[in-house]
Amino acid sequence: QTGRQAEAIRTTCPYCGVGCGVLARQTAQGWEIAGDPDHPANMGRLCSKGAALGETLGLEGRLLAPQIHGQEANWDTALDLVAAKFRAAIDTHGPDAVAFYVSGQLLTEDYYVANKLMKGFIGSANIDTNSRLCMASSVAGHRRAFGTDTVPGLYEDLEQADLVVLVGSNLAWCHPVLFQRLVAAKAARPALRVVVVDPRRTASCDLADLHLALAPGSDAALFNALLVHLADSGKVDADFINNINGFDAALEAARQEDSARCNLPQADLEAFLALWAGTQKVVTVYSQGINQSASGSDKVNAILNCHLATGRIGRPGMGPFSVTGQPNAMGGREVGGLANMLACHLELEVPAHRAAVQTFWAAPAMPETPGLKAVDMFRAVEAGTIKALWIICTNPAVSMPDADRVARAIASCDFVVVSDMMASTDTTRLAHVLLPATGWGEKDGTVTNSERRISRQRALRPAAGQARHDWQILAEVGRRMGWAEAFAWDYPAQIFAEHAALSGIAGALGSDFDISDHAGISSAGFDALAPFLWPANPRQRGGRFFAEGRFHTADGRARMLPITARTPQPTDAAHPFRLNTGRVRDHWHTMTRTGLSARLSQHLAEPYLEIHPHDAAALGLAAASLAEVTSPQGRAVLRVLISDKVAPGHPFAPIHWSGETAPTGRVDALVPAITDPVSGQPDSKAAVVAIAPF
Ligand code: SF4
Repeated sequence: QTGRQAEAIRTTCPYCGVGCGVLARQTAQGWEIAGDPDHPANMGRLCSKGAALGETLGLEGRLLAPQIHGQEANWDTALDLVAAKFRAAIDTHGPDAVAFYVSGQLLTEDYYVANKLMKGFIGSANIDTNSRLCMASSVAGHRRAFGTDTVPGLYEDLEQADLVVLVGSNLAWCHPVLFQRLVAAKAARPALRVVVVDPRRTASCDLADLHLALAPGSDAALFNALLVHLADSGKVDADFINNINGFDAALEAARQEDSARCNLPQADLEAFLALWAGTQKVVTVYSQGINQSASGSDKVNAILNCHLATGRIGRPGMGPFSVTGQPNAMGGREVGGLANMLACHLELEVPAHRAAVQTFWAAPAMPETPGLKAVDMFRAVEAGTIKALWIICTNPAVSMPDADRVARAIASCDFVVVSDMMASTDTTRLAHVLLPATGWGEKDGTVTNSERRISRQRALRPAAGQARHDWQILAEVGRRMGWAEAFAWDYPAQIFAEHAALSGIAGALGSDFDISDHAGISSAGFDALAPFLWPANPRQRGGRFFAEGRFHTADGRARMLPITARTPQPTDAAHPFRLNTGRVRDHWHTMTRTGLSARLSQHLAEPYLEIHPHDAAALGLAAASLAEVTSPQGRAVLRVLISDKVAPGHPFAPIHWSGETAPTGRVDALVPAITDPVSGQPDSKAAVVAIAPF
């Protein structure tokens, strides 16, 4: 390496699940950010959010010292108080009286320590994560079909496919660099077909050969229709289905489906079915439009059914592909950050798995049953059964469904700790103890992107003020609670190595997640660690899964599930509109970082309601006026954006703005806490609302 690159620090973008490599270089003007040409995820590309990272590194709004009841305190006092309060709650009410609510933006090492502390030492599984709102339905779908939460394919499959279907995924805005790769692939090979399946005409449709603006919630019906078409047109792979249980039942259920519920022009539906059936190299990419649903798991399995039936999985240019929302949603899954999982993709409810982890950790107490998933966790907080709650690196008072109710629940809890890098959010204002955490540019550790590639985030500069790393804070509390030996790390490399060693044990038990190649890694090796795909062990390195038809189920066979599409929550006379929610191109989550960049706010500066011209006219809403949106849960006031990209009756609003912003754009206050019965993921895409001029 020479010149500029030799001086640059290699790190990873903290936003979406693409996981782009970043080169950060300090200049007299500040931090210069560029895409890392050597990172396999982005090969030098960045999107607007990644490119603006240098503008978000100031100290504006940072939490720089611990606070107890709003008063600055020293670290020892704050940590002693947290440990004592959690210990008292556990001693008086049992381990299930405490809970951690964490984040897909934590680094894997932070996540591992939180999970170890709660599941191995406190002895409860009450740790859940904002990833529950993001991809829990994909996890459930994978586990039901494959026996493990395994993403079969790689990003390059999108470039090698002859057909890419984007379902419930506005890839252009939500995973922009992956979309850029798809744009480049189509430019180089125009025969590559792209289909977008989405009720909205999103920016991703600019690349589409076909846009299916299906009725909201009818995705499973579409893929059931596809399964029937595949069977009737002789496209089922007779050899591959020898490796699958449940084909006949899945097909029988699919035959009961009425594809009319998709409300698609017949010619478009037939064109899609023929294209999918007639193209061997097909990748179906899906994201929140599938996952964030009261039947998200079934939608995922309806997609997986079609790939399994045709054997189009795990081979170049073929497969279902879940793209995760957050930078480390996958890392969180790997450490067992969900309330119903154990570390290294082991199963909490399998005694041999539990015993292996307990032995490895020398853990005094392991839960035998899943803990509370996100929505249920905050319900338990509301009910008073959770006595001590620790919220880490996330802002649930804005981002949880039924957000007003969640904020009230947090406010009512006996003891609330919030670790955050920002001083003033809707959630930090509810904390009894505030702990300053390091943020991107200060943290050191790893993240895993949507294609299972583990990359390093590296510190560019020292921690701001008195901020500490999340893993350090958690380990300090673990030590204060009496478990000094188990939480004795000095460096994140030691945590990574411990996780890698545990993954070797998991691999021997049949887990797909095995990175035991790195079990003996040194600090220097960790510093130099290049991005790599898992698995990484003596038996298997990188690559794809399942092409040979061997799965991680007890009998080694995949499972196709009979799926019956379910109707989403109905509108009623008082709430005649179905509100869709989602991200915008240039902001991220609750904007605590992207809101610091004036450039990023130029794209869409205010919370808005995108509404069809017919609806706007009927309601007397003028362009750029304000609309009051109400649901049975809450209220928001949004700027009117009249657009025929949304269907009549189906407006759209972005999720990013908080209660501090005027007009009040806290859209998750409108969203009901209806969850998928399998995954526990909320139905964030389907709030029924009333709309009126404000
Ligand atoms: Fe960051 Fe995602 Fe943009 Fe890449 S595509 S620069 S990971 S936000």
